[in-house]
Amino acid sequence: MHLLNEKSVTARVLDRVLLPVEKISKQVVFDCRMCGQCILHETGLTCPMRCPKNERNGPCGGVHPNGNCEVFPDKPCVWVQGIERAQRLPLWREHIGELHPPVDWRLKDTSSWINLFTGRDQIHPKGWDAGNGNK
Ligand code: SF4
Repeated sequence: MHLLNEKSVTARVLDRVLLPVEKISKQVVFDCRMCGQCILHETGLTCPMRCPKNERNGPCGGVHPNGNCEVFPDKPCVWVQGIERAQRLPLWREHIGELHPPVDWRLKDTSSWINLFTGRDQIHPKGWDAGNGNK
């Protein structure tokens, strides 16, 4: 049971109001890329979409021994940062091990807050069940 019906007028109005608020606030704080299906609390509050390969389930095999990114060797791997930060969180520390389905690009540039309330971020094509009860 979700708080909002995604097709309702309320959801559409809230989306218009909240989208710019979410976009600005999360871009400033998390360098958010507006994927529309936020998993920040499962990634040590590190946006996984900053990974140039858009990895959602941990680092790729190309992380350098110093913890830097394979694609941008002068930058730290987003997932190494996430794993380290998760250990310092008072909450959600163990969520770093959650398995996620692939990114649903249809949700790009939509509000993850509204998608959470409507349950839209939990709708995945068959075969994408990542063990989180997703259907
Ligand atoms: S996971 Fe998605 S919604 Fe959350 S901060 Fe990253 S791009 Fe933004």
